[in-house]
Amino acid sequence: MASLDYAYRRLVNTLGPERVARSEFERMVYSHDFASLPKIALLQWRLYPDFVALPQTTEEVSGVVKLSDESLLQITPRGGGTGWCGGSVPNRGGVLIDMRKMNHILGIDPDGRTVAVEAGVSWKEVEDFVEAKGFALPHVPLNAIGSTVGGAINSGSTGFGGLRGGSLRDAVANLDVVLPDGSLLKTASGADAGGALADLTPLFFGAEGTLGIVTKAVLRLIPKPELTRPLTYSFPELPAAGRFLKAIVDAGLTPYHAAAVDRDHFVFERALRSDTPEPVDLALVAVQGSKDEVADQEKALDALASKEGGAKLPPAVGDGLWRERHNNYGARRLSRGLMISYNLVPLRRLPEAVETAARIRDKLKLNGSVQAHLVDSTTAALNPYVLMDDTRPSGGTALGFVKRMGDAAFKMDGHPMGLGLFLVFNLRKMHGNATSAYSAVKGVLDPRKKINGGKTFEVWTKYPWPGLRAIPPPGMAIGLEVAAILRRAKPTRDRFVRAYEHSKEG
Ligand SMILES: Cc1cc2nc3c(=O)[nH]c(=O)nc-3n(C[C@H](O)[C@H](O)[C@H](O)COP(=O)(O)OP(=O)(O)OC[C@H]3O[C@@H](n4cnc5c(N)ncnc54)[C@H](O)[C@@H]3O)c2cc1C
Repeated sequence: MASLDYAYRRLVNTLGPERVARSEFERMVYSHDFASLPKIALLQWRLYPDFVALPQTTEEVSGVVKLSDESLLQITPRGGGTGWCGGSVPNRGGVLIDMRKMNHILGIDPDGRTVAVEAGVSWKEVEDFVEAKGFALPHVPLNAIGSTVGGAINSGSTGFGGLRGGSLRDAVANLDVVLPDGSLLKTASGADAGGALADLTPLFFGAEGTLGIVTKAVLRLIPKPELTRPLTYSFPELPAAGRFLKAIVDAGLTPYHAAAVDRDHFVFERALRSDTPEPVDLALVAVQGSKDEVADQEKALDALASKEGGAKLPPAVGDGLWRERHNNYGARRLSRGLMISYNLVPLRRLPEAVETAARIRDKLKLNGSVQAHLVDSTTAALNPYVLMDDTRPSGGTALGFVKRMGDAAFKMDGHPMGLGLFLVFNLRKMHGNATSAYSAVKGVLDPRKKINGGKTFEVWTKYPWPGLRAIPPPGMAIGLEVAAILRRAKPTRDRFVRAYEHSKEG
């Protein structure tokens, strides 16, 4: 292996000194994503990259990837770094490629209804751009501000618009991908490329940066709806809001977004902002269309909500929540850390799923909020979050919540989303025998496992020696189960917000 100084000089020759970082501070910034990892994780993984590279072109990405063959340094692709399971964090140091300098919108084709973008641009920027031209994106990840186009595609993200506009995968027409050997692959469907190419676009959807680095994407567009109206309804309990969401689908309505949020979320938000609505279990539904279409949908939703005991809230509540729709995890400021468990469950089991999530949270004596949204006509996303203080020794035990939630999702015929660094043990349960196909594809595209090696289907440690170099995925599951058991044995609940304790006593 070449020395780190030599590797640094080679990177600087490729990108210039201002786009290669190696200071302690920068390396620390890139040593975590949105998930809170306890300090003890550093015993297992080298989470700090040796270098951070900031390419501006596909050729530069290819150049950095090729350099890895001489330095033998691992490569970690990263977009906004907002993932929840360590996918964009190194496990053995190496070169982290931050894609956010590739953030240009390359052009819109109004006739063909597509927009071409670089992979490091945020979804919000793309959304604002196309809306100014009279178009809309059929699907927008919930975290549109922080998440990049390449990151969301690789995460298999869900978000706004799925029920009406189809999945994010359907919304991607084609991709430019730098493969692990540094060559460029252009994916496209037969229709998009005049029948000239096999469509490999879906291969990279949800690949979590293990198969190549997406540098460009062409996204499909729809005409911009005339009007968006957010509506909110309070319910006597969260499962009733879950039943309401199911009733929306059963009635054949296709709102742009429909979510259930428990009162605890607003208890946390109130501790941070005085303009937060009164804590209630509620549903937020955004409808779109012409004035008449919106009015018709609103009437139908009012009727469905009242069947579940829902009461319509003043328009200002919906307007405020819709404006803040990208800022869901302010509560992190109360506790210094936060863990989100992201699962897909069959829509028919949503009312049971929200109850289960609250039960697991309470059993583990955690502070947290239960939330869910419609993904498509048969599936709901269940994404509760819990607060944790990862600076305290007991803080890390909150990771046990993610394990228990994933297990519960499987029991409800669903599954957790995202494997990254520490949820790898879920892969086989999700895909059964098809799991071997994943390692086979990885073997073909990246035989040396240099891009995000040791993630998604195996867990490498920072130690390169035989016997210690990897943790069997079931071993990770046992570790997180032990965290859950320790968490349950903890005599008292964490105290981050007094009002939360009062609400649980009352
Ligand atoms: C407020 C908030 C809301 C969220 N809501 C949702 C949600 O509703 N649904 C959901 O699915 N997720 C959600 N997430 C999780 C996360 O934000 C999304 O998965 C997001 O799309 C990830 O994008 P990113 O650019 O931050 O990717 P990163 O976190 O940087 O990376 C994610 C994965 O993609 C890889 N990667 C990144 N860029 C590239 C690239 N150009 N080429 C190849 N691989 C790449 C990384 O190596 C990593 O494995 C949310 C997160 C937050 C903070």
